[in-house]
Order: sequence, then C-alpha cells, then structure tokens
Amino acid sequence: MKIGIIGTGYVGLPTGVGLAELGNDVICIDREKSKIDALNSGILTIYEDNLEELFHKNIKEGRLKFTTSMQEGIKDADLVIIAVGTPPHPVTKEADMKYIHAAATELADYLTRYTVIATKSTVPVGTGDDIESLISRKNPNAEFDVLSLPEFLREGFAVYDFFNPDRIIVGTNSQRAKAVIEKLYEPFKGKSELLFVSRRSSETIKYASNAFLAIKIHYINEMANFCEKAGADILEVAKGMGLDTRIGKRFLNPGPGYGGSCFPKDTLAMAFMGKQNDIDLTLINAAIKGNEERKNHMCERILNSIKDIKNPKIAVLGLAFKDGTDDCRESPAVDIVFKLLEQKVKICAYDPKAMDLAKQILGDKIDYANSMYEAIKDADAIAILTEWKEFSSLDLKKAYDLLNHKKIIDLRNLIDKNEAIKLGFEYQGVGR
Ligand code: NAD
Repeated sequence: MKIGIIGTGYVGLPTGVGLAELGNDVICIDREKSKIDALNSGILTIYEDNLEELFHKNIKEGRLKFTTSMQEGIKDADLVIIAVGTPPHPVTKEADMKYIHAAATELADYLTRYTVIATKSTVPVGTGDDIESLISRKNPNAEFDVLSLPEFLREGFAVYDFFNPDRIIVGTNSQRAKAVIEKLYEPFKGKSELLFVSRRSSETIKYASNAFLAIKIHYINEMANFCEKAGADILEVAKGMGLDTRIGKRFLNPGPGYGGSCFPKDTLAMAFMGKQNDIDLTLINAAIKGNEERKNHMCERILNSIKDIKNPKIAVLGLAFKDGTDDCRESPAVDIVFKLLEQKVKICAYDPKAMDLAKQILGDKIDYANSMYEAIKDADAIAILTEWKEFSSLDLKKAYDLLNHKKIIDLRNLIDKNEAIKLGFEYQGVGR
C-alpha cells in the first residue's frame, strides 16, 4: 500500500517506520525543513526505544522516505494519515485545529484517485466532518473517505505499541474505507482487536480514554496524600488495589502529576467539549485542577526540606515528562524546576535522554550534568522528578559522600527508603 503521513513527530515518525516495516511504501511529510533534512541524512529527530534500527533498515530497503513536499507525499497514495499536532488553544484551551485545517486544505489539491484519509491526531468530536467538507470545497472532484484512526501509543514504547496494539479503533461507516483499513492491519489479525465504530464515537474514544487515565493518576495522587496523613503506604495500597482485575495494576504510581503532550491538553479539550455540550464533566475538571495543584504541592515539599539551607543547590534527576522519552512538553519536572527557580534555588540537572530538549526550554537558567553523580556533587538535596530506571540504581553511599546535605526528595518512589534512612539520609518519598 502507498501511504503518505502528514506530520513527522512523536506519532507520525514511529507510525511511518512501523508501516514501512510491514511492507508498505511510506512517505513522511513535514513542513519543518530541518526535521526532514535530518531524517534524510539518517538522523532520528526523536528518541524512542528500538526505533533507530527499523528506521535505518526501512530507508535502506527503499520503503521509507521523507519530504517537505505535500504533492510528493500525497500523489497516488492509497492512504493518507494526518498526524499533525493539536495543541491547546492559548486562550480557550480547546484543541487548536489550525494544523489539522491547514493539512486538510493543503492535501486536497493532490488527491488524484480514491484515497482514504485517516486522522491519527487527537481531534475534537466532529472534526472528521470538518475535514471532509474542507477537502470537498477545495477539490470538488476528489474521491475520498475521511475516517478516524486514533493513536494510543505510549511515548517510550511507541515501537512496541505499534506492533502490539491493545486495540485498533477505526471510525467510519464507509465499506470502501473499511476494506482499505482491514488490508492495512491484516498482519495484526488474531492478535489485536480491530474495532469499527462511527467516526464520532471513535473521536470520543480517544478523549474518553486519555481523560480516564488522567483521572486514575489524579486519584492515586490523592490516595498518596491520604496515606501520608493516615500512616499507610501507597505502594502497598496500590499493589493491593491493582490485584483487582477491575482496577488493574497500571497507572497506580503516585508522583508529581501527569504531563506530556497528551493528558494535559486532552483533559482541557474534553472539558471544553463538555461545556460546549452542556455536560458537567466534574471528574475531568477535578483532575485538571488537582494536577495543577499537585505540582505546587510537590515543589513546596522540596522547598520545605531545604528551608534552613542558605543558597541551596538541588540535584534534579529527570526532566522528561516520563521515562523512556526525551519529550519535555508539559513535563511536571520542568514545571517544578521553574517554580524552584522562582525561589532562587540553584539547580544542576541530569536526564538520560532529555537534556537537549530541556535545554531548549530552560536555557542557561540551570546547570546541566553529564551523569547523576556529577549533578549530585556538592548539592544540598537530590530531587528525583522522572521515573528513569537508572535512578533506582543510584549508589546511595556514593551519593551520600558527594552531597553537602544528605536529603532525598523522591517524587517517584524509586529509592529504597529503608536503605536510605539506614545510611543517614533524610528521605521523603510520596504517599509513604
Ligand atoms: P509533534 O508535534 O511531535 O508532531 C507534529 C508534526 O506535524 C510536527 O513535526 C509539525 O512540524 C508537523 N506539521 C504540522 N502541520 C503540518 C502540515 N500542515 N504539513 C506537514 N507537517 C505538519 O506531535 P505528536 O506528539 O506527534 O502528536 C501528533 C498528534 O497525535 C496530536 O494530535 C497528539 O495529540 C496525538 N497523539 C500524540 C501521542 C504522543 O504520545 N505524542 C499519542 C497519541 C496521540
């Protein structure tokens, strides 16, 4: 199948690589020339586990190409996937459709035969209808179907998730488009459920799923607060809860709040859609508010632990919004760093993968280290903000010797609390 993908970011790139690996001819399109130039020179523009090898392999075998030209990418395509960003509108916080509308308008001219246009971007309910009418207006002769194909990949596991999806949701009523999608996902037959629903249901499934997960994180953070006051241990509580298959084990890790390019913006967009439809989405609104407060609360925890130290310096471990990715968009770690800077705290940070992207946001406001130990040297406290596995193997003895004051604020519960206390650390986890 010939596939054009519009938008070569955290979704478009792994999707393009995965579809090429399945044997399709894929052209990834992006309007950012520097990104396409890098990809054409064999340089990956995002960090994702196991992406590099498949990326080089499929380029070499001629199934994966990159271009800035919409015409080159769309011409003769059987399937066009839209994977451009849908960031929150700066004022209303609804999903900003400017990139979607631009992509739909730009592609319309190049449809020369029947083409399925699938929206992978997370888009408000009814967007499929808008894309359809934009294209029809621009190119009345175009023969096409627009369907919703929401993306559920987890950053950090994008390649794994591409090849092992829990489910593939497709929103369409067109039999012709359905046949194209069935052929595309033929390799997953018997492994993953391919669920066909209406376009509006499919668009809703994506938001309803992300909002649910955000609420689950907010819930476990509230339970962590409760455990701290009630003398319970959230790790034990979460384990006990997770054994109930109705609840499930995942998303029960307390921390500094959810972040990333999806949950914050998708909960805001869902809340906006609720308002538009006169539905009071109380749980989602509580999660949005609670998540904002969470970051302040966690920052206060850090400040409290260093309140008696003059000109304190903190070793921040982790800047990405979660482990396994270099993505720092809406990262709670970055938010907390900014809040600490407002209080004149000096920071030296280390992240295994996100240093370059973090530097673009934080610039020279903080110092950067090449290792955990370099960050920790002469600091007054360690603040663990991202759940990188590497941090759980921190050599506590070595850290103890390198620190000025022996304090650990472990917002991801990665450190062995008993060992830390035994060594003489003042240790604070979350919910324990
Ligand atoms: P991204 O910002 O990493 O990538 C989007 C890319 O689209 C950018 O490279 C941008 O230059 C390009 N672009 C924008 N307009 C274009 C146009 N008209 N023509 C060509 N290229 C254009 O965004 P992302 O994280 O990949 O997210 C894309 C969409 O997928 C969003 O709607 C997001 O909500 C959704 N999504 C993201 C994830 C995730 O984990 N990142 C998961 C599921 C769904």
